[in-house]
Amino acid sequence: MSISFPIAFETRMKSTLGPAWNDFVSAHDQPSLVSIRINPDKDKLPVGIKIPWSDYGFYLPTRPVFTLDPALHAGKYYVQEASSMFFEQAINQTTDLTQSLRVLDLCAAPGGKSTHLLSLLNQNSLLISNEVIRSRAQILSENIQKWGHSNALVTNSDPAVFQKLKGYFDVIVVDAPCSGEGLFRKDNQATSEWSEENIALCSQRQRRILSDVWPSLKQHGILIYSTCTYNEQENEVNLKWLAENQGIEFIELNTEPVWNIEKITSGKAIGYRFFPHKVAGEGFFISALRKVDSEPEIRIRPGRNFSEASKKVTEQLQSWSNNSENLKIIKQEDLLIQIPNELYDEMAFISTQLHVVSKGTAVAQLKHEKLIPEHAKALAIDLNHNNFAVIELSLEQSISYLRKDNLLVGSGQRGFALVTHQGTPWDGSIN
Ligand code: SAM
Repeated sequence: MSISFPIAFETRMKSTLGPAWNDFVSAHDQPSLVSIRINPDKDKLPVGIKIPWSDYGFYLPTRPVFTLDPALHAGKYYVQEASSMFFEQAINQTTDLTQSLRVLDLCAAPGGKSTHLLSLLNQNSLLISNEVIRSRAQILSENIQKWGHSNALVTNSDPAVFQKLKGYFDVIVVDAPCSGEGLFRKDNQATSEWSEENIALCSQRQRRILSDVWPSLKQHGILIYSTCTYNEQENEVNLKWLAENQGIEFIELNTEPVWNIEKITSGKAIGYRFFPHKVAGEGFFISALRKVDSEPEIRIRPGRNFSEASKKVTEQLQSWSNNSENLKIIKQEDLLIQIPNELYDEMAFISTQLHVVSKGTAVAQLKHEKLIPEHAKALAIDLNHNNFAVIELSLEQSISYLRKDNLLVGSGQRGFALVTHQGTPWDGSIN
């Protein structure tokens, strides 16, 4: 069924695209491509046709029922639209990933860019993955947990709160809430929510978000701005506005001509636009820029520290991880959480500044001297499988388990076991 575009949108796009408007319309008569990004710390197998601008992205020939796939629940891959995976190029081409970086993903739910970042950053980099809407921050936290890294903090703070972290971040990602014109093919409803008034509102909101977060970027720090919309007001016009008020250098990104990504220059601003009739993906816009203004950097003040787990508990938990020497176990009431040693001070400091939803990886609950494993630890990339009894489930059993059916496993053993399907753990809590 053909999409009926809003009239004002159609008029604008006809004038922007000229004769290519017909190709744009035809592309909307085609189904969206299905693509996933694999978790290289859990699965390195290629699964389809590679997305050329991402090491981890693949197109699938058909759309599986993702929710019934244990591998999705195990965090082996993330379902993500292909154009937005070009984000990897923006990070790789602007950032020295061998360094320990402080990275903020400001508008992060449900977690596409954040999980992507966790695959790109080294383990001593800190990712602050923030989402202002509380219910969405919870979903974000679950997706981060599935990805299995301990170097992330999920926060639920308004962008304005970040103003106090002056000069703190090396990299800031603003994947802004937008009018969503680039998703018309995937989400037919998006057309009914579209209006010129909404574009103006989105543009104002994006400016507020950018100016709120700007002081927290270091001098020479990188900001990646993206939207899934085509109009100029939410993209290059906003970036030009930012550049009028702040010291900015836009960064040119290398693209292959066959990728068919459109480079946009507008005044000083440089951006990259993805059209579904040209690129194998949905509509998208991205721009990378460097802060040239000087920005004094906030000093991390030793403040409230985390309370650390006892030596005995820490020793007991050593065999649960493959890299326990690099981890600190902290205690939050009965919950034991692992965080990288290197990030202890950073995480303790940030926890005094932002509203933290989750940090590191929850490992176990300590109840009456007994350690009760946490689901998150079963999903952690550093889990030492050899330390646990394993119950391997068939696909049928796994699906039944996902439906929360009671599961009878025949071994008769007592205690905790790691539940796996095809060798990959996705739960740790059968008792
Ligand atoms: N980066 C995400 C990903 O890759 O999965 C998608 C982000 S989505 C395009 C934009 C996000 O911004 C939404 O989660 C939305 O809740 C959040 N948002 C909405 N209003 C906001 C505001 N005023 N300030 C900051 N974020 C906002």
